[in-house]
Amino acid sequence: MGCILLTGQGVAMSQSNQKAATIVVLLGPPGAGKGTHATAMSEHLSLPHISTGDLFRENIRNNTVLGQNVKSFMNQGKLVPDELVLDMLFQRMEAPDCARGCILDGFPRTVAQAKALDAKLSKNTRIIALNFNVPDSVLIERITGRLVCKDCKKPFHKRFDPPKQANVCDTCGGTLVTREDDQENIVRKRLEVYHEESQPLIEYYAKKNDSLREVDSQNPKEQVFRDILLALSTLKTKESL
Ligand code: AMP
Repeated sequence: MGCILLTGQGVAMSQSNQKAATIVVLLGPPGAGKGTHATAMSEHLSLPHISTGDLFRENIRNNTVLGQNVKSFMNQGKLVPDELVLDMLFQRMEAPDCARGCILDGFPRTVAQAKALDAKLSKNTRIIALNFNVPDSVLIERITGRLVCKDCKKPFHKRFDPPKQANVCDTCGGTLVTREDDQENIVRKRLEVYHEESQPLIEYYAKKNDSLREVDSQNPKEQVFRDILLALSTLKTKESL
């Protein structure tokens, strides 16, 4: 894989003279709270939140060629092929706002993607993986009640975290929608795909320089966030974050 020609601004990729950067990788099944906490982490750490799912959905909304190509995979709960994922993500990571790193939500989804990411990064870039643990039994209820703001992407839940006004985002006033792939039959397929293809990433990062930390995502939201900050501090990343 050739290295990306950078303007020298994005996340440190393959060049040794880049400044230290940190990539926080969020692992865990759909509905584990990755998106919710990524938003708060992004503010707290001043790192951009990059969700490959959001990037695909934006392409679908704008009816781009990429959007047309990924739609059927997403609507069946399947993974989008790597050739459609990697270029899009690595291009996004070249943007100047990624100079100190970023929070990756929904990437990598397979060990092959994790290896492709490793191959792109310079030695100065550190990867931290947070694994959001939640048993499957609670995930279906969490996902099928999920609502998301069409504009700012803030997530809500019909029962557990309802907006103040029905179907209106508390933060930006945008309309709240249900994702097409949050229907129960598609959610079950996504969970199956997660166990088969994404779960091996936990072992991959556990073996990689003590990069992995576990977060019990069944706890109340505020406690989960405190646990995330604690996990990040035990990795002694404060100086680079
Ligand atoms: P998410 O918003 O992360 O739940 O992703 C929604 C859907 O987008 C997934 O079910 C996949 O179809 C697709 N997708 C997102 N990220 C990836 C990825 N890294 N690799 C393959 N497919 C992805």
